[in-house]
Amino acid sequence: MDFRFTEEQELLVESLREFMSREVTEEDIKTFYQEGAVSEKFSKAFIEAGFGFLGIPEEYGGTPADVTTLMLVGEELTRQSAAVFPFMSNILNMFDMVEFGRPDQIMTMMEIYKQTGKPAFSLAISEPQGGSDNSAMTTVATHKNGKVYLNGAKTWVTHGNVAPWTLVVCKEESPELTNKNMSMYLFAADTPGVKFSQLHKIGQTSTTFCEMYLDNVEIDESALLGEKDKGFLQLMKNFEVERLLIASQSLGLAKAAMDDAAAYASERIQFGKPIGNQQMIQQMLTDMEIKIKNMHNLLYEATWRHDNGLPIKLESALVKRYCGMTATEVCSDAIQIFGGLGYTTETRVSRAWQDARGWQIAGGTDQIMVHIAGREVLKKYKK
Ligand SMILES: Cc1cc2nc3c(=O)[nH]c(=O)nc-3n(C[C@H](O)[C@H](O)[C@H](O)COP(=O)(O)OP(=O)(O)OC[C@H]3O[C@@H](n4cnc5c(N)ncnc54)[C@H](O)[C@@H]3O)c2cc1C
Repeated sequence: MDFRFTEEQELLVESLREFMSREVTEEDIKTFYQEGAVSEKFSKAFIEAGFGFLGIPEEYGGTPADVTTLMLVGEELTRQSAAVFPFMSNILNMFDMVEFGRPDQIMTMMEIYKQTGKPAFSLAISEPQGGSDNSAMTTVATHKNGKVYLNGAKTWVTHGNVAPWTLVVCKEESPELTNKNMSMYLFAADTPGVKFSQLHKIGQTSTTFCEMYLDNVEIDESALLGEKDKGFLQLMKNFEVERLLIASQSLGLAKAAMDDAAAYASERIQFGKPIGNQQMIQQMLTDMEIKIKNMHNLLYEATWRHDNGLPIKLESALVKRYCGMTATEVCSDAIQIFGGLGYTTETRVSRAWQDARGWQIAGGTDQIMVHIAGREVLKKYKK
């Protein structure tokens, strides 16, 4: 067994750490969170430094990287900032685009991304009556005279109201629950008939999410992305990597909370000595450390499996569930160690806790991870 990362991976993490200390301050991050957007300057710096092109094939101007390397970037970016930025979901969206898009669709998205470093498109799947249960979606594409007409409503669409393009998942022709034919269409967000209404999150506010209404939106057949009727099934396979990417950010938040809380425990004097001398504080720190180690080991064992061509259906669900729940616990304990100060917006741990909570819902809830993992566990142990 070898638990070490490669020299290249260590160097990349080191350069990301330097980049973060050079390019962004805690004051900047607070401003991003208040304004609901990361500055153009920081977004551009991220891609100019090359981090935003990781995982994208060379022919589209990217730098190939394995999933372990992508997760290291997700973890370190989040750890250094104690924040969730749109960068990692951009990388993931581009990952999907490269896999399912035509060269012209990929190039259009890459051009926008290169110019701004900001999300070129949002991914609209969830609906008010169909969240965990995607088969309950009722947004429909109908085909007439060589055109496609989209009708329906989406919700909680991250960057939906700010990204210039939208990738929507919808049913073909009929909203019936039994209709399993789902396709993906890519269209400009300012197409007539598209309307947005911003929703207000309690965390992860460096970007927004919104409701999206599609009222007879007319697009060309060429807007289809991937295979008709099967597009969503194709995309679902990539959800396994998305789960890991979310977990890497959960881990980064937990580590950031630990960094701050453990340092504070040595500085804060009560009853004439640092609170870190109290065994009850040490117990919290010890359990936080165990949880962080477990998260780390589960995550990187799964990325190792992926990079070695092994299946990760079970592992990615276990990782997402464990890291999501555990990061919230670690951040909550970090707040406890900070006492009253932890319950203010003055500390990074309060932000980390709010952000970590969102990862227990986005990208598939904790309970849906059981839904996926449970069946795999039964299969694994069936005699
Ligand atoms: C920060 C954030 C970003 C998001 N970004 C996007 C985005 O970009 N695009 C997008 O399309 N969506 C996005 N979402 C939506 C997200 O995918 C859904 O919220 C999620 O899939 C859950 O759906 P729901 O909210 O309808 O909850 P529901 O499905 O209504 O679930 C409600 C509760 O019931 C539980 N439950 C549901 N089914 C079962 C079951 N079979 N067994 C046990 N328990 C069950 C759930 O776990 C949950 O606790 C985002 C959400 C968040 C929080």
